[in-house]
Amino acid sequence: MILELKNIYKNYQQGKMEVPVLKDVSFSMEEGEYVAIMGPSGSGKTTLMNIIGCLDQATSGTFFLDGEDISKCSENEMSDIRLHKIGFVFQSFHLLPRQTAQSNVEMPLQYAKVPKKERIARSRKALERVGLAERVGFFPNQLSGGQMQRVAIARALVNNPKLILADEPTGALDSKSGEQVMDLFKRLNEEGVSVLMITHDAEIASHAKRVVTIRDGVLTEKE
Ligand code: ADP
Ligand code: MG
Repeated sequence: MILELKNIYKNYQQGKMEVPVLKDVSFSMEEGEYVAIMGPSGSGKTTLMNIIGCLDQATSGTFFLDGEDISKCSENEMSDIRLHKIGFVFQSFHLLPRQTAQSNVEMPLQYAKVPKKERIARSRKALERVGLAERVGFFPNQLSGGQMQRVAIARALVNNPKLILADEPTGALDSKSGEQVMDLFKRLNEEGVSVLMITHDAEIASHAKRVVTIRDGVLTEKE
């Protein structure tokens, strides 16, 4: 089991009020799966992704990632887990504008203190894997939206994470580039990468092999 969430609650503090956002969420995922969590805006998707991505802690409940009890982890342990076990893909790519595709992809390796020569080799390989071997020296403003997202996916892959977490990965793309990104996730999953995608879009969600729905902080899955 790569993910195991049990009875997760998340409340946000709003002044003196506690606002419940996630309500008794239980969810698990096996290694190698391709799952979509689908729900309308405001349903708690990003809140859930932040917990699964070890960016935030639940208010209560237990969460195991790759066998490790994250509810007991410190901030430092969580950032270590993020670096080594999770590859993030965001709607707005989050690329550094003054860095080439190659340097952007190298970034997680730099944090992990991988030596320069190996960084170059691994980031080139990751860019090849997403079909961008010819674009290693390009800056983000010289790339299309779809290409920028593929750079971001190469960056997410470069540390060989246990899980790719993608929050609305096609939200900023035209439909053709969105389809290409979906094709890429499908291929990566066939190559053994575990993918958890978060989206409000049923058509996008249907590319996953398993779809879980979230509505008003409650997760449901059809049998
Ligand atoms: P989604 O990603 O599905 O659109 P979010 O997880 O971003 O939903 O938000 C779910 C609910 O939690 C919303 O009602 C939002 O207003 C609230 N929320 C999100 N983040 C915070 C925060 N930091 N403080 C207070 N409320 C928040
Ligand atoms: Mg969101």
